[in-house]
Amino acid sequence: MRTSAGRLRSINVEAAPSERWYTARVMRPSAWFKCIRGCPQRHPLSTVIYRCPSCDALLEVEHDLEALRARSAADWRGVLRERAVGPWPHRSGVWSKWEMVQPEVAPENIVSLGEGNSTLLPATRYGASIGLDELYVKHCGTSHTGSFKDLGMTVLVSSVKQMIADGGAVRAVACASTGDTSAALAAYGAAAGIPVIVLLPAGKISAAQLLQPIAHGALVCSLDTDFDGCMRVVQRLTHDPSLYLANSLNSLRVEGQKTIAAELLEQLDWQLPDWVLVPGGNLGNVSAIAKGFVELRALGLVDRLPRLVCCQAAQANPLYRAFERARAAGRTISEEDYAAVEARTTQASAIQIGAPVSLPKAIKALVDTDGLVAQASEAELADAAARADRCGLFTCPHTGVALACLERLVDDGTIAKDARVVVISTAHGLKFSEFKTRYHQRQNDFPSAHANEPVAMGSDPEEVVGAIHRLLDETAS
Ligand SMILES: *Cc1c(COP(=O)(O)O)cnc(C)c1O
Repeated sequence: MRTSAGRLRSINVEAAPSERWYTARVMRPSAWFKCIRGCPQRHPLSTVIYRCPSCDALLEVEHDLEALRARSAADWRGVLRERAVGPWPHRSGVWSKWEMVQPEVAPENIVSLGEGNSTLLPATRYGASIGLDELYVKHCGTSHTGSFKDLGMTVLVSSVKQMIADGGAVRAVACASTGDTSAALAAYGAAAGIPVIVLLPAGKISAAQLLQPIAHGALVCSLDTDFDGCMRVVQRLTHDPSLYLANSLNSLRVEGQKTIAAELLEQLDWQLPDWVLVPGGNLGNVSAIAKGFVELRALGLVDRLPRLVCCQAAQANPLYRAFERARAAGRTISEEDYAAVEARTTQASAIQIGAPVSLPKAIKALVDTDGLVAQASEAELADAAARADRCGLFTCPHTGVALACLERLVDDGTIAKDARVVVISTAHGLKFSEFKTRYHQRQNDFPSAHANEPVAMGSDPEEVVGAIHRLLDETAS
């Protein structure tokens, strides 16, 4: 049967290889897994491997930067601009950068749901309300499954599809999740026809997040534990190499997420922001964004780095505590400053994590970018989200954490009024409607400074019109 999807695919295969052929002639991009502590072995990206076999440290994807430098900075900019309006799948915000991301997936094995190319919104009115001249919100949650997790998942699932095409014995992909990872894995797995297993902490994720893997036909396991407990189980489960681990411990995810850096620079016409704020839980994303900027500097696309701020909920703040411990002792943060905490309940449920897997990478990210860690209370994150909503944004609680931290850093003068600032919005507000309902119905144990409840009215036109005029007069006075 020749469906429209089938026709689309045949267009891909014709359009994409010629460019790949061209690229392969001028450069031979290649990449491999490497231990972050510097052990010498390289492992092919097709190996089922998550930690260094010599020292058990995390791995990261290392690229042949020399090969990538065969294209000049100006040519890179031009290529990225052209691909953004070119044929599928290289118009994806991730696959437009395939040489720097995952050069070892053939175009026909790319599993894309149109990720990336998310809006970089000038948040003019909200920015002015908190005293900033140039604030942007990068809407990474305006995406197929409603969070930035799509960026990493397209790379991971495409890599698995390539492994299966090459005869690899992967039966299923599996993840532990605070909600958004499972939604993204389930969607990309379904699009590729690869079975998906998700382990979720019972009762700790939003209804919308739970519905997504259910709808996509994943095997949804609701575990009587928290996220950190699910993470322990999935690491045990994936001892079996035919069950492939899809958490950000798998550094293929990081490669997709790092494209946030290049994409926001493209949108700023390659003018570097001074600050980039990102909510942090398992700390894969802050590491990814730093890696993106560091590699772009190595390729000559920028000449310095923005300062990153990792923003945590005060209820689940192990990196913040480590940062403060180092600061109190007057030294640069290191792994010695860190201790896992028990994550307490936070409205920012996707970052309710006490033992972040990517901690060593996040510490490197902070050191590389002269970064900071900030935290926000439950009242602060909810009020900041509500204030931003009043200015036309519609933010999830995690973005609320980043905005609350931003407000604090502007207030105390750390971030200057004329700084160019980007806040990474990690999910779509509509995935967290319970958060907003509780706030506006004043169901929290803190006051809701910006609560707005519907006004009950009858059906008599004169009465309704009269009531509306009275209410308008009240708000005007
Ligand atoms: C996953 C997630 C985060 C945290 O990202 P990490 O890489 O785990 O630090 C933040 N916000 C949302 C909405 C998420 O889904």
